Amino acid sequence: MINLSSTGTRMPMQAPEERTGNFNEVAEGYTEEMAVREALRCLQCREHPCMTEGCPVSNHIPDFIKQITEGDFEEAYQILLSTTVLPAVCGRVCPKYLQCEGNCVRGEKGRPVAIGSLERFVADLHRKRVKAGEIEEKSGAEAADRDASAAGAGKVAVIGSGPAGLACAKDLAAAGHEVTIFDRQQVPGGVLAYGIPSFRLPDEVLAFEIDGLSAAGVHFEFGKELGKDISIDALLGEMGFSAVFLGNGTGRPMGLGIPGTELSGVISAADFLDRLNAAGEDTEKLGKVLPDAKTVAIIGGGNVAMDACRSAVRCPGVDKVQVIYRRSVKEMPADPAELAEAMEENVEFIYLTAPLEVLGEDGRVTGLKCQKMELSEPDASGRRRPVPIEGSEYTLPADAVIEAIGCQSENGDMDGLDGIELSEGKNLFLVDQETLSTSRPGVYAGGDTVTGPKTVIAAMGAGRKAAREIDRFLRNA
Ligand code: SF4
Ligand code: SF4
Repeated sequence: MINLSSTGTRMPMQAPEERTGNFNEVAEGYTEEMAVREALRCLQCREHPCMTEGCPVSNHIPDFIKQITEGDFEEAYQILLSTTVLPAVCGRVCPKYLQCEGNCVRGEKGRPVAIGSLERFVADLHRKRVKAGEIEEKSGAEAADRDASAAGAGKVAVIGSGPAGLACAKDLAAAGHEVTIFDRQQVPGGVLAYGIPSFRLPDEVLAFEIDGLSAAGVHFEFGKELGKDISIDALLGEMGFSAVFLGNGTGRPMGLGIPGTELSGVISAADFLDRLNAAGEDTEKLGKVLPDAKTVAIIGGGNVAMDACRSAVRCPGVDKVQVIYRRSVKEMPADPAELAEAMEENVEFIYLTAPLEVLGEDGRVTGLKCQKMELSEPDASGRRRPVPIEGSEYTLPADAVIEAIGCQSENGDMDGLDGIELSEGKNLFLVDQETLSTSRPGVYAGGDTVTGPKTVIAAMGAGRKAAREIDRFLRNA
């Protein structure tokens, strides 16, 4: 029977006053009873816009939810696994309100079905059951063995172990190809591993899903950077690969470009989150990430700014965190749920304000010179620009400043691309939109390195699309 509740089933969370004292996951997950109750809100729509309009990897949303209503949680998991590599990750970090849940018809009169929470539930339950020895993890090797004998199976190099690379590698391995992922870091996952704090994505959740790829036959080589340790010529030449997928993301943090950013105490959000993830639960190491900082200013208004401010709140010794954003809350690109959780955690938000200069003494940050802004009338694109208000400058005390204004491509400075064309200005890989092939035959690219920073699941969708094209290329070669 359909559950007609318009408010849905809330997931239990750590209380704000408790969670700001630890890096444990904030959302605690559904119980089986809660999951079934929420799944019963799904209308099993014939058109299912949640899936066709909302999910970049076309997860079979009504089908997996139906299995939950019938209590067959493992079958629900297997349905998800036919389209996604990282269900426990995506259920947590996807901007669902813009994607599947944003297209759910139940959202027209109340809360949409909590699709992400249900996806997370079945993936978490599967992981727990495998770890408890209650069920066996399928390695995927059987599928690979079956297809490996098919004509055209080849050797593919994947650059980058972020979401695009992982998705591409998984589909290629399942199609019988021999896949090696090269990553310049020492741990797999790309931005998932070093850019998302553990209170949103615990390490063990990511590690389990990546282990699934190893079990499916994907090889990993760490500490191998394109342009330094390997090149496209070498991969397609002496290293014997028949095709390459470039999924190296956009890893260079953008700076504020204002005076004073060379001072000690100014850090990019990417570096900050990376150092926090490396520190893990070691209090001494955590204390060194923002040394001697009591008041922290975060510049930016996107999801990385939310991750940074919520992480800063949890750092030992920090007692005040302020986010400075040059537009108003209405224009803020951050996920509203993340924003609400940050506010619950006592992060302060200073809107319509831009930093002009980082101020310092003896080489260390002491504050930010800021200026008030107002929004212009909408321009031709409907966007309201922030305009400085003359004479409104003031100083905001701060001991540390975190720049969270986005990342850009490093492709322009990379050697070893050997003839792959880049877009002018942004240095993103130029690809044929239909096939994701670059200017060099056999070399494909997808995810942020082509589009600029987007979502995890959009990158995964690109990785899957490239895998289909690479498979076709190899079988026709
Ligand atoms: Fe929604 Fe993301 Fe899951 Fe697709 S992968 S169903 S967009 S949470
Ligand atoms: Fe279920 Fe919502 Fe999708 Fe309809 S749109 S099938 S109610 S999840």
